[in-house]
Amino acid sequence: MIDLHTHSSISDGTEPPAGVVTHAAAAGLHAIALTDHDTLEHVAAARAAAADLGIECIPGCELSCDADVPGALHLLAYFVEPGCPLDGQLGALRASRETRNARMVERLQELGVAIDLDEVLAIAGEGVVGRPHIAMVMVEHGYVADISDAFRQYLGKGRSAYVERDRLDVATAIELTHASGGVAVVAHPHSLGLEDAALDRYLAELAMAGLDGLECEYATYDRATRDRFLALADRHGLVPTGGSDYHGANKPGLAVGTGAGDLTVPDLFLAALAARRPARSEGSAT
Ligand code: AMP
Ligand code: ZN
Ligand code: FE
Ligand code: FE
Repeated sequence: MIDLHTHSSISDGTEPPAGVVTHAAAAGLHAIALTDHDTLEHVAAARAAAADLGIECIPGCELSCDADVPGALHLLAYFVEPGCPLDGQLGALRASRETRNARMVERLQELGVAIDLDEVLAIAGEGVVGRPHIAMVMVEHGYVADISDAFRQYLGKGRSAYVERDRLDVATAIELTHASGGVAVVAHPHSLGLEDAALDRYLAELAMAGLDGLECEYATYDRATRDRFLALADRHGLVPTGGSDYHGANKPGLAVGTGAGDLTVPDLFLAALAARRPARSEGSAT
């Protein structure tokens, strides 16, 4: 059993990389991927902890991409190492987050939500700062009941305090991932916001653009949904993957490996993913 989708405090999870890896080992997993948002800064610590505990650590990250879909497209990149071409672009994405966070806090202040950017940065600690951290400060001050309430009222796409940020176009992100020796997987496909026929057409397009995999065994999906996505992956020649999307206390009820209790992601998904890795063209690139 493995888990290919988890977050640490390097982005919006609540535990340091070593803590997440420790849960994976305790759950008896053979391999874990930490997939923090827009960063590979968790990789060194995760890898060191995994080596100590005798499990495999796959370097990876999760990218929110620009895509022609009604919902959100999150791309999981695997086998990408710190310093790779993709990592080079992540710095610019994080800089754009900083401007965006400041603008969202300004909007909230205009809306009468008196929180301070410094509080948001403090609650985020060392990690990549994002809307979940803004939401936590809003909860702390009693402006909203909980994090999802904050998204529903203020922070969600199109809500009153929402501000766009720079994203990589999905085709560019796939290309950069391949140029970095990695493979690209669409995370939690329901979030694209496409119904069956449209999703089928869109995945055909992404497969043409080089997409490698589709996250089918996702913690919060029921069996029927997982099976529907497994069939879609099969039809488009995509490797099925799976994971818990563990965020520690930021997503209560989800455990590393087992998700909400019924998740089992088989080792063979990882083997299939590894087999999709592009041949490295280091040195031959112009
Ligand atoms: P950001 O990276 O700043 O755009 O924030 C995206 C993160 O916010 C996602 O990774 C989710 O963990 C979280 N998020 C998005 N929508 C919601 C929601 N409706 N309720 C709770 N958390 C959410
Ligand atoms: Zn997250
Ligand atoms: Fe996601
Ligand atoms: Fe995630």
